[in-house]
Amino acid sequence: MENDDQLVEQQFEELLSQCGSICKSPEDYATIRAAYEFARDAHRGVRRKSGEPYITHPLSVARIVVSEIGLGVKSVAAALLHDVVEDTDYTVEDIRYRFGDKIAQLVDGLTKLSGVFNKESSEQAENFKRMILTLSDDVRVIIIKLADRLHNMRTLGSMLPHKQMKIASETIYLFAPLANRLGLYAIKSELEDLSLKFRFPEEYAQIEERLFATSAARQQYIERFNHPIIQKLAQNNVRFEISARVKSVYSIWKKMKQKQVGFEEVYDLFAVRVVFDPIEWASEKSQCWSIYSLVTDVYRPKMDRIRDWVGTPKANGYEALHCTVMGPDGIWAEVQIRSRRMDDVAERGVAAHWRYKGAGSEDTQIDPWIEKLREALGGDTDDAVEFLDNFKIGLEVTEIMVFTPKGESRTVPKGSTALDFAYDVHSKIGSQAIGAKINHRLTSIFTPLSSGDQIEIITSASVTPKVEWLDHVTTAKAKTHIRQALRRESENSIKEGQEIFEAKMRELKITIQARVFRKVLPAYECLDKRQFYSKLGVGMIKLDGLEKILKQNAATKLMKYWTLQIARPFRSSKKKSEEDVSRHMITATCCNPIPGDEIIGFEKEGGVIEVHKRSCAEAIRLSAQRGEKIVGASWESQKVVSHLAVLSFRGIDRMGIMLDLSRIISEQLGVNIRAVEFSSHDGIFEGKISLYVRSSEDLKTIIESVSAVKGVERVSRIEGVDASAAEIQ
Ligand code: MN
Repeated sequence: MENDDQLVEQQFEELLSQCGSICKSPEDYATIRAAYEFARDAHRGVRRKSGEPYITHPLSVARIVVSEIGLGVKSVAAALLHDVVEDTDYTVEDIRYRFGDKIAQLVDGLTKLSGVFNKESSEQAENFKRMILTLSDDVRVIIIKLADRLHNMRTLGSMLPHKQMKIASETIYLFAPLANRLGLYAIKSELEDLSLKFRFPEEYAQIEERLFATSAARQQYIERFNHPIIQKLAQNNVRFEISARVKSVYSIWKKMKQKQVGFEEVYDLFAVRVVFDPIEWASEKSQCWSIYSLVTDVYRPKMDRIRDWVGTPKANGYEALHCTVMGPDGIWAEVQIRSRRMDDVAERGVAAHWRYKGAGSEDTQIDPWIEKLREALGGDTDDAVEFLDNFKIGLEVTEIMVFTPKGESRTVPKGSTALDFAYDVHSKIGSQAIGAKINHRLTSIFTPLSSGDQIEIITSASVTPKVEWLDHVTTAKAKTHIRQALRRESENSIKEGQEIFEAKMRELKITIQARVFRKVLPAYECLDKRQFYSKLGVGMIKLDGLEKILKQNAATKLMKYWTLQIARPFRSSKKKSEEDVSRHMITATCCNPIPGDEIIGFEKEGGVIEVHKRSCAEAIRLSAQRGEKIVGASWESQKVVSHLAVLSFRGIDRMGIMLDLSRIISEQLGVNIRAVEFSSHDGIFEGKISLYVRSSEDLKTIIESVSAVKGVERVSRIEGVDASAAEIQ
């Protein structure tokens, strides 16, 4: 306990020492100390998942805020207090009473934001909007939130795995682009790396290891590269510093994925940075270009790789001149040319902007910057739709804003139709929708919406939701309501369908058993019995081909050496059997994961678990927006003792028989084949397949499949193969 107090006190002293440049008066120090003491006492007795006293977290966030971003006293105080209202009994009013309006306002903003991200419901996505709008109140809220997220990412190791995935996905989906938007490059880059580390630990470790292994050689090369530049600049009296930055693990990883190349083929692993102290009698811009000219006297530039962000700074304020030149040994390398000021802005974003704007308090100086950001984001903020759209495009969030006939705004996901909107307004309006007036023009309820549309829904009491509606909605809300309505209707049709099926089976004199459904369900593309009965009941399927289907051999059951494992099966109280679980897992069609892929599951409606590749963009989106639905999933390869069996078969060599056989072999027997031989003479062919089987039942199935091929006369097992040597390891 005493140790804890000492540790905390020491961390506070470190914070204070970092605040030297922002504290202008004894009052400033007093504010920071008061905020610290208030937060420390409020969180007393609470510990983080890592076991440290809770106050170490706000302290770390405050240190990031001052030393890595360079915000002022009020922001540091707000960072110290950021979790007090959320996690303790104190209210924003208590903060206001003690620390005044501005700090209270910041803490209030942070508390609301934290509500957005702690929420474990679908509202999480919709609340992004609120967060982005907070920006117009005070951008410092977002920046402190970024510092909060950065510290949480730095300490993510102590969280549970599914939480890690949720937080890491949100980070790459929202926070890293946000940091980029605000010009906080160092933070953006660290967030990306940390997110990658938790999402793909193995790939991250591999790249890190390769970087380490090649670092000595790279360092030597960089020195060789820099030497002539240093000489040239010194000869021309430029005051400068030169340094080299190795690409981040994330950007290397991204390049490897995008270009489908190996680590060795990522050629521009580093960038050289020239930061100069400008002379007074020339503009920074012209000095950038004269340095460029000196550098390209030394190395030949790649003409299509010049990036001039001095003439036209990036929207987030970034200024620099980038070029790519050919260094020794014909290696291309990027050179970044920046003035001291540009470098500061690039490294520290927002805060640096004020520093170069002259004196004044933290509060008054931030406003011009917000103004600038607003401009960059689409001008007039009165036009909220455009503002939001622009911001969202920048952050890759895809929502649009539309209006009710009364002019009330609503956000719906991009791709939403008038029907989605109808359900968004009210489920009853949705389920009775018959048409829509979009911008006063009559149109179908399936019409996709555009940003700024005004929509009026026309309803009719005689309308009920139809199955095909599901193909024309994107929102979960609409889908849920449509399904509910359909379900009510379908209970009746299920009964009817069951009766039809039972009658047909009586007619065919076949008993209804589990194996009947194993053949019937896939044949009719149904997931379960209920769906099958329901489709049958409403007449969507006919039983004409039933007899043929039942005669066919059951689908492959040989190949299940790989099984999908899920970490947190079902939260419902009902225990489900293993067979049920596997039937409720589907692999996503967007990324089609196959055995061996790194995967993750999402619980969908009705408890179905959809399995995605971890790298799938949709999986990242789902994790970021619906983190509560994450289910850990992995492919487990089962080591089943399998026995080598050799089958010989002969038959009449008709056209296409080889094709039929190879199809059966590859589709049904797949990877378990060890060897295949065919020979043909005088219209008779003979073949031999060696393969591994787990049981005599499996072998029987294979023999049946091969026998069923037209033209095959005889299939038999060759005895005497030493099975003990054939275990799969
Ligand atoms: Mn926090």
